[in-house]
Amino acid sequence: MTVNGEVTVSGKRAYDVLVVGSANADLTVRVARRPGAGETVLGSDLVESAGGKGANQAAAAARLGARTALLAKVGDDAFGELLLAGQRAAGTELRHVLVERGARTGTAMIVVGPDGDNSIVVSPGANARLSPADVTDAREAVAAASVVSLQWEIPPETVRTAVALARECGTRVVLNPSPAPERLEGELLAAADPLVVNEHEARQLSGRADGGPAEWAGALRALGARSVVVTLGGDGALAADDGGTVAVAGVPVTAVDTTGAGDAFTGALATRLAAGEALADAVRFAVRVGAASVTKAGAQPSYPTPGELP
Ligand code: ADP
Repeated sequence: MTVNGEVTVSGKRAYDVLVVGSANADLTVRVARRPGAGETVLGSDLVESAGGKGANQAAAAARLGARTALLAKVGDDAFGELLLAGQRAAGTELRHVLVERGARTGTAMIVVGPDGDNSIVVSPGANARLSPADVTDAREAVAAASVVSLQWEIPPETVRTAVALARECGTRVVLNPSPAPERLEGELLAAADPLVVNEHEARQLSGRADGGPAEWAGALRALGARSVVVTLGGDGALAADDGGTVAVAGVPVTAVDTTGAGDAFTGALATRLAAGEALADAVRFAVRVGAASVTKAGAQPSYPTPGELP
């Protein structure tokens, strides 16, 4: 049904969350020790799984029960199939996932160290071809979503187009500028509600090497962000908006693999914001989802259903 140009289901928008972003095949090897420059080390058997910040956020939201759609681009190769299968398993609406003939699906080469921390090299592949025109073609999906969730693994022009369209359609924007650009222009900051950053991104984008999460969040709000969430790994997260600043403690778990923890967090946050929850409450929920995701190997394979939360 269409009301005032918005696709609705019994008065609500048809999608809780539309993720516009990347899809990567994650190729993961565990090592006892990271190699230095010029060095070779032996690792575990290779594990292939579905990843990419966009696809991860969509899978996280869908597994938590949000009506979720993904606008992304993959190649017509086996990795593209892997990505589609991952989204299908999570329950994501796939009609906006574009398959580009002759392109390689994005790939992330991930090394997981003994502490569960990871180092990643991304080959963007088809993600680099997700264009502004692809977003405007999906205008109806942007208008049909309560929240649009964006990251920084697709061309910046495409992110800008999605943000502009979301504002036109009255769709809330969750922006996770990761991997962090040098700086973020005012228009994007002003649209982000919230801007979701980890410690590294918070430092980089706030331009404050010193200080702590509350100062970074304050600086980012002074630069124009309506609300800010800083994720703090095992220490939880901090939320700052007009209602104040709230620190949410981490959930103690045994970290097995932190790959995709931030994406699980952001997918969960978008899910709860789409349901109309206040920012601090949505962050409390997202911290639990992020914690659950680090207790299992891989990104999407580690994402919890509501019944699997700590
Ligand atoms: P990113 O993966 O983007 O660097 P973080 O490392 O800050 O982001 O992790 C995102 C969220 O995942 C945290 O806010 C927290 O909820 C959860 N998380 C990450 N690492 C741990 C950990 N070691 N123990 C418990 N929760 C964690």
